[in-house]
Amino acid sequence: MALCEMTGRIHSVQSLGTVDGPGLRSVVFFQGCPLRCACCHNPDTWDPAGGREVTVQQLAKQLLRFRDYWKNGGVTASGGEPLLQAGFVKSLFAVLKQEGVHTALDTSGCVWNAETDDLLDVTDLVLLDVKMPTEALYGEYVGGSLSRTMDFLVKLQERKMPTWLRQVIIPGITDTEESLRMLWDTEKRFSCVERTELLPFRKLCTEKYASMGIKFPLAHLPETASETVERLKMVWNTWNQEEK
Ligand code: SF4
Repeated sequence: MALCEMTGRIHSVQSLGTVDGPGLRSVVFFQGCPLRCACCHNPDTWDPAGGREVTVQQLAKQLLRFRDYWKNGGVTASGGEPLLQAGFVKSLFAVLKQEGVHTALDTSGCVWNAETDDLLDVTDLVLLDVKMPTEALYGEYVGGSLSRTMDFLVKLQERKMPTWLRQVIIPGITDTEESLRMLWDTEKRFSCVERTELLPFRKLCTEKYASMGIKFPLAHLPETASETVERLKMVWNTWNQEEK
């Protein structure tokens, strides 16, 4: 089978977005995720058998139609968890790289194997979701292990892979200075990390959960106030100043 005929399962394609990597980009949401984040916006991506099947060739063709609009951008693979289909994403990114397209991988870093390693060969930037600051919180609110994310970051460091850390600021859970400090310390320890993004918790997915007949675990929490994110950014900048 030619690589371009390899098939994968995707949930959807966002033709143009500004929040998943640099510039104006197209985002592919891959189907399937082993985690169950309490703040997940895309529960309809969880089922690996859901979504629709596409070939690398079909998806690359669909994406390249938007290339004139990618101002300093490119393509981001998100999900779901794109690492569950690392071989397919690798083939897609290889085609895009041949076309000179910037490729970004949005992942929790929960899978490491030979296919993941190969995928990083054709990835320009990793957006690494550090979902919780401690193993206890990770187990409670994500259903996985923080150590996998940190092990993944060690691999990224070895490769000198440009990396952005990301975390959703959830009221009463990750909006504390202790949580922020873990991220700050991580950014300082790993020179491959170029920046850290603090993302507000939003509840736009509430109706999606209802239509799927499943409970949104954080329905009782308020959305993150913009002042909270600003306050945490100020604390971050203070620590940066103190370090100099
Ligand atoms: S990793 Fe992403 S898709 Fe998977 S449960 Fe968490 S937020 Fe949802």
